[in-house]
Amino acid sequence: MTTIASNLQAVNQQIHQAVIHAKRASGAVKLLAVSKTFPAADVRLAYLAGQTCFAENYLQEALDKIAALQNLPLEWHFIGPLQSNKTRLIAENFAWVHSVDRLKIAERLSAQRPLNLPPLQICLQVNISDEASKSGVASDEAIALGLQLACLPNLNLRGLMAVPAASDNVALQRAAFAKLRALRDELNQYGLQLDTLSMGMSHDFPAAIAEGATIIRIGSAIFGNRNYSKETV
Ligand SMILES: *Cc1c(COP(=O)(O)O)cnc(C)c1O
Repeated sequence: MTTIASNLQAVNQQIHQAVIHAKRASGAVKLLAVSKTFPAADVRLAYLAGQTCFAENYLQEALDKIAALQNLPLEWHFIGPLQSNKTRLIAENFAWVHSVDRLKIAERLSAQRPLNLPPLQICLQVNISDEASKSGVASDEAIALGLQLACLPNLNLRGLMAVPAASDNVALQRAAFAKLRALRDELNQYGLQLDTLSMGMSHDFPAAIAEGATIIRIGSAIFGNRNYSKETV
């Protein structure tokens, strides 16, 4: 078995345990393999081990991998920072975008989504720990923006995404994830039907699952430590 295959097996086992511990339905949590900085060959190994959903942060790197692997039935998610000049290629090449945090960007994705494709599935990214340097809409602006995004054609607002401040303290991890869940529930009280909480990474996904995560985004626990200086594709 390859290292990637055994890492995937271990992660899936930990997900299963966290789901049981939280008394949630089996299959309630979808694993997204974050393949940024890793080559297409590693994505292929993960696919051969049963993984079909992958996430990328950097557009050009992602497009190269999508092209190299177009013969495989993979689902691609964009989770990186969004710039106006990148929206067209993102709208054309991805099934999901988790990092929408401005109306203007969402309007461009909406206008640029090809009509022969299903609606682009989006999450509103929230700066849940209110960190000055982080992407995401401020928590106190999330409800207003979410209600606006839900109205845009060719997009399907599925829920909220966050990358909380890193912490080793499980109680603090859970508090941040619970905050995101409360915002999602509040939006649903306004009449939306958001089914997605995209939260939890390699170091904190059990806490995210305990607080209701439906998509967890795992990179290093599957592919190993990232080396940003290395050539990536
Ligand atoms: C890189 C990244 C991940 C994966 O992080 P790991 O700690 O390697 O699991 C998840 N979400 C986002 C937004 C990322 O940028």
